[in-house]
Amino acid sequence: MRIIIAFPPLSSQKGIPLLAQNRQFQWAKTPWTAYPMVPASAATLLDKSDHQVLWADGITKGQTYSTWEKEVIKFKPDLIFIESKTPVIKTHWKIINSLKKKLKKTIFVLAGDHLTALPKESFLHSKVDYVLTGGDYDFLLLSLVNHLSKREKLSPGIYYRAKSQIRSTGPSKLNHSLEDLPLIDRDLTQYKLYAYKNSNYAYTPGTYTMFARDCWWGRCTFCSWTTLYPGKHYRQISPQKALKEVGQLIEKYSIKEIMDDSGTLPVGSWLQTFCKGMIKSGLNKKIKISCNMRFNSGLSQKDFSLMKKAGFRLLLFGLESSNQKTLDRLNKNLKVTQIIPALKKAKKAGLRPHITVMVGYPWETKDDIRNTLSFAKKIFKDGLADSLQATIITPYPGTPLFKEAQKENWLKTTNWDDYDMKQPVLKTSLSDNQLQSLTRSLYSSFFTPQFLIKKTREALSDPKVFKYYIRLALKFPSKLLDFKS
Ligand code: SF4
Repeated sequence: MRIIIAFPPLSSQKGIPLLAQNRQFQWAKTPWTAYPMVPASAATLLDKSDHQVLWADGITKGQTYSTWEKEVIKFKPDLIFIESKTPVIKTHWKIINSLKKKLKKTIFVLAGDHLTALPKESFLHSKVDYVLTGGDYDFLLLSLVNHLSKREKLSPGIYYRAKSQIRSTGPSKLNHSLEDLPLIDRDLTQYKLYAYKNSNYAYTPGTYTMFARDCWWGRCTFCSWTTLYPGKHYRQISPQKALKEVGQLIEKYSIKEIMDDSGTLPVGSWLQTFCKGMIKSGLNKKIKISCNMRFNSGLSQKDFSLMKKAGFRLLLFGLESSNQKTLDRLNKNLKVTQIIPALKKAKKAGLRPHITVMVGYPWETKDDIRNTLSFAKKIFKDGLADSLQATIITPYPGTPLFKEAQKENWLKTTNWDDYDMKQPVLKTSLSDNQLQSLTRSLYSSFFTPQFLIKKTREALSDPKVFKYYIRLALKFPSKLLDFKS
């Protein structure tokens, strides 16, 4: 079959949609996108099964819609696959409906966290033919294509039209073995498009891996990936396969930095074996690795030091709030008192912690937000973190937070276009302007004189790091603009 993995350009005054590979959707003012791991895995699986695959990411290529559409029509696809998210689902419906008029025989398939939460909705609003639910939609897309081309039985988790009804093959099962997946074909999926403009990379070209799907905690009430991979479905590839992938990324693609986007990187004996393998093979001298980590991972000072020696650089920690009541309500399974010790250990090992913070929780007062602000300020003043990301909490459909918001009558709107983390959709005691201004203050919080002196010293010691900080500094004003009403 002729298959397109499609990211149609979505023009908006809000900016560039950070759609794929993102737990929390955002529009960004400066263009960058993350390498979409599961769609790339789907493309590789289909290609290895002798199907013709076109990778059509019009967003990252910066194409106009009409240029992208011409490319799509010219390919004469039998099937078009689109990964969607809540704030752009309505636009994707319009695109499918419009394309269906020009490509009458083409089959349209949607997947993603929004579709997993509300699989039937898209059949009512668009001419979509199939919806794949759950996070293993690479395996499900292959199953669907094998069904269409070879009459094979459909896997569980697929919704389809049957005359005037919407039927499904039952709940999706997250039991596929990641070890059986082929290593991703980065050329087929145009990895260079994503290799430079990403603030997670100090060293370029960079790329993404996902050594695990998804998070060994997997229960935070706001996390949209808990829709795709509810807790207890954490799976990982073996450390040996991860090392093979790192080796291939260096040898074949000249990659200098990896962002591993497992919800949280595996720890314990997996991490030890992986790190020791990186050191023994000498791969640690050729590449840097960044990853998502939890404050209460149980990692000791020795573990953090081993990670540093193995080539790890940036660790992304979800702080979310410095108010214990908020961490408890979000089911973060985290004590505020665990935050500083974990940061100290990571910094002592020479790693660079990045923290993410959110505002706009319905139960938080202005004083609560100020508390988080001063906590973040102190972290930066004490040199315990290197960067920060601040956003406005958004309850995505399918998450426990969304259900709580419905029950408590906190939702200001169910117009999905507004669920983009730029504007509050939850009722709070603060005005939208106040929340946006507090988000901007969080970004400014790390610009203390001590922090700037430290960063200038670091930047001057390594030309690559210097260039990286220049890139970050240039991005800073646009970050503030992202939260300007
Ligand atoms: S720790 Fe991160 S990835 Fe894991 S459930 Fe919480 S927000 Fe999601």
